[in-house]
Amino acid sequence: MRYFDLHCDTLGECTVKNLPLRDNKELQLSLERGRGFSAWFQCFAAWIPDTESHPLEYFRRVVQRRRKEEEQNQDWLQFCSKASDFYSTNQEKKCGGIFTVEGASVLEGRLETLDELAENDVKVITLTWNAANEIGGGVQEPGGLTPFGQKVLQRMEELHILPDVSHASEALFWDVLEHTQGPVLATHSNAKSLCSHPRNLTDRQFLALKQRGGLVGLNFYPVFLADSGNASAVDILRHAEHFLSLGGEDCLAMGSDFDGAAMPEGIIGIESIERLAELFAQHGYSDALIDRIFYQNSFRFFEKYM
Ligand SMILES: [Zn+2]
Repeated sequence: MRYFDLHCDTLGECTVKNLPLRDNKELQLSLERGRGFSAWFQCFAAWIPDTESHPLEYFRRVVQRRRKEEEQNQDWLQFCSKASDFYSTNQEKKCGGIFTVEGASVLEGRLETLDELAENDVKVITLTWNAANEIGGGVQEPGGLTPFGQKVLQRMEELHILPDVSHASEALFWDVLEHTQGPVLATHSNAKSLCSHPRNLTDRQFLALKQRGGLVGLNFYPVFLADSGNASAVDILRHAEHFLSLGGEDCLAMGSDFDGAAMPEGIIGIESIERLAELFAQHGYSDALIDRIFYQNSFRFFEKYM
């Protein structure tokens, strides 16, 4: 099967814990355990914790780790820089890595830092983590887009770096839509009408992203799947079902949050994706629709905007 995942924190974990991306038992994702996919794209985030006092320095550490992993895994991994990379990685049966940053605190309030991010092939920036930053409010510290945030969005558009509103406060979410023309993603967020956690999207938000030609990636974290915090793989299906009922067949995707979250019953890590797809099939999903959600919607999106 083909798989395209909009968010994992594995690269950060490899950096901090000095674990190999190629083969490890400690993490929820390794290149080795994803070898079964006939095509595989994985967004690897450099997550910037809100408490990080030197965000840019930390980002550079993750970049170094990324370079090291690329060098040591040339046979299995290639980070996508330009549009043609999206085809060559597939042909060469490699995992196509997409480098993202989670938390625009990385900019340390300087617009020029965006150039460094672009030079390092960052394709998506999750604008905030849970706290507010120089851009605007996060889910735990509400607030809209700042004047600096407006400039950041404008420069991101010029550099072809896409904004991700997972973790954004609702005020920031709507401000971002107002101040951008291009597509906006929510790489790892679920449906608020099924689980009321503030990290999830209201139906109105989902429809706005859909209308904008964006993507919404389903997050596997039990706390975002069910209000009880107890969830299984079936709950991922429930959220998919809901978004599909809102017309999400073209914008629904996967955003596992591997190595950034605990997993629901039935999901161990990247090796469980095949079984998750089988679960969708058992519930009457056609192969074509499964492929859209698990791969094609995201592939088409990046093909178009890269
Ligand atoms: Zn996150």
